[in-house]
Amino acid sequence: MEILVLGSGTSHGVPMIGCECEVCKSSNPKNRRFRPSILVRSGEEAILIDTTPELRLQCLTFNVSRVDAVLFTHTHADHIFGLDDVRRFNDLSGKELPVYGDAETLEDIRRIYPYVFKQTQLGGGKPRVSLQEVERDFSLFGLNIQSFYVLHGRLPVLSYRFDQPATENSPAYSAAYVTDVSHIPPDAMERLYGLDVLLLDAVRFDPHPTHFGLYQALEVIAEVKPKFAYLTHLSHHFDHDTVNAQIPENVELSYDGLTIRS
Ligand SMILES: [Zn+2]
Ligand SMILES: [Zn+2]
Ligand SMILES: [Zn+2]
Repeated sequence: MEILVLGSGTSHGVPMIGCECEVCKSSNPKNRRFRPSILVRSGEEAILIDTTPELRLQCLTFNVSRVDAVLFTHTHADHIFGLDDVRRFNDLSGKELPVYGDAETLEDIRRIYPYVFKQTQLGGGKPRVSLQEVERDFSLFGLNIQSFYVLHGRLPVLSYRFDQPATENSPAYSAAYVTDVSHIPPDAMERLYGLDVLLLDAVRFDPHPTHFGLYQALEVIAEVKPKFAYLTHLSHHFDHDTVNAQIPENVELSYDGLTIRS
């Protein structure tokens, strides 16, 4: 399994429009953050988590030319407004793209992208996607995947855990992506034990109504004890190098282009 962080930023992205702060003006490329998304690769195949407004730029920047499935967490704009760009993956693969989400997410996608699902036009490129309601436990491309809810304010948001079974050449490996979260219910916490890697939301230092603050995220990490944790959905409150120097050794801020290999 390989995880590529396509975007480590919060909904505004970093730099923010019209902000003159040190982080937004920073020349450190790790302080430039696209909207939040990861790509999970298993062998040749790739699963995209969320389609941000910057999907095209993310794919061009990090040489992504293949996506075999999309998993959605929820339908806030920073997570879904790049869906139209998957047309290129339809063209490159010659296939329809399976898109997974819960029933509410799929209903939102149909409403927000009506032209994709209605016979509204002849000609002109449209994404070819098949909407599939996500199951609690399912498999894709050799990975066992669990979906489970965390709370983003009052909104239930899907998180995903990926388990790669052991093979002759590699030991078992597990990773989870938990973004847009301000509370993890006990049944979801149980899914987060025994991880090699946890990617977890931490939007700023202080708690936020719909996201973890840094210290809340570090508490969760201390509780579930992944071998390594990366923080994501980061705002301009975090200077990459300064914050990395202050947090525990097995935790780092993620950054765009970070590749995590099993
Ligand atoms: Zn978000
Ligand atoms: Zn700023
Ligand atoms: Zn959100």
